[in-house]
Amino acid sequence: MNEAANVAILVVAGGRGTRVGGDQPKQYRPLLGLPLLTRTLANLAAAAPDAHLRTVIHPDDREAYDAALCTLSRTSKSWATPAIGGPTRQQSVRNGLEALAADGLSQQAIVLVHDAARPFPSRDLVARAIESARSHGAAVPGLPLTDTVKQVAPSGRIHGSPDRATLRTVQTPQAFRFDVLLAAHRQAADAGEHDLTDDAAVVERAGHAVYVFDGEKENVKLTTADDFSRAEARLLGELADIRCGQGFDVHAFGAGDHVWLGGLKIPHDQGLEGHSDADVLAHAITDAILGALADGDIGAHFPPSDPKFKGAASSLFLADAVQRVKARGGLLAHVDATLICERPKIGPHRDAIRENLAKVMGVALSRVALKATTSERLGFTGRGEGIAAMATATIRLPFEG
Ligand code: MG
Repeated sequence: MNEAANVAILVVAGGRGTRVGGDQPKQYRPLLGLPLLTRTLANLAAAAPDAHLRTVIHPDDREAYDAALCTLSRTSKSWATPAIGGPTRQQSVRNGLEALAADGLSQQAIVLVHDAARPFPSRDLVARAIESARSHGAAVPGLPLTDTVKQVAPSGRIHGSPDRATLRTVQTPQAFRFDVLLAAHRQAADAGEHDLTDDAAVVERAGHAVYVFDGEKENVKLTTADDFSRAEARLLGELADIRCGQGFDVHAFGAGDHVWLGGLKIPHDQGLEGHSDADVLAHAITDAILGALADGDIGAHFPPSDPKFKGAASSLFLADAVQRVKARGGLLAHVDATLICERPKIGPHRDAIRENLAKVMGVALSRVALKATTSERLGFTGRGEGIAAMATATIRLPFEG
């Protein structure tokens, strides 16, 4: 850890929440193409670039966590090994705090505890959290209630109308001086209390004053499938920079008994010569995506002169191009490609190639189109000297002017 780090953020991702549906915990469920946790971590890292980030995960989730971090590994930030959570949220936070203590975090540092299921922490919110914790030692974001609140008995009968002016709903990040929060957690655990639902309650229990600062309506917690749909619609609205890139490639036939097309091995009485595995289709699509990003071309990123790319699987280049879109906060909306050759016949392999391309690019099959044509025996493709491929890729990026 950076010794000067005076702010740490603990992201609690150890829950099993599957209310949203599906069999994976919701923090690993894709939110517009990226795991929810990835979006939360990326936004926290952007909101507090100098903070030390630690995530607490469930012991069964290491693989899912590593996959979620894959896109983030392109950022300059170094990501600490995750801490392993306990059976309750409170115990998970405690484990994370002990990991921060082992990291050597200063007792005077500020610790923000944030739920993985809140993917939209803004820079302003995080700044307010840090400021409030510095002033008060313990502070949580809260929102005033706009609806009237009633206390209701199980029978449905109302038996109280609390004054809503004194009430707040609270969110995360909750912010504390490290020594205050760590001592309060140790104290609660020693007293046999393991099920307090937020960190404010742990600190309140220890007798420390906790203050409220302004939360944000947009800082929603995603719990249900509806929450995910609304969050996706919001994110899609932010991806207003819609771009189309094009790519073109040719490889000549040579000796061999197969060709690679779209990452799939197709038996043929000739092979293709050239860069990597000479997958002309994967190369054209990779260039189309790089073109949409205005980020060079396949030869610039994977020079043919570099021996490590000799014979390499071109699906790696394609996956890399898609990761570049994700690293820019965008998504791949559609790919359309055409193969031009007399032989091999593409029709029998078309759907298998599309399926493989969709898998490599991490998009739905309906977002991948593949056509094939001959050139009526004209030109080099017509004479059977090689295969040409054309592709367009449509991507959506955050509008940055
Ligand atoms: Mg090529």
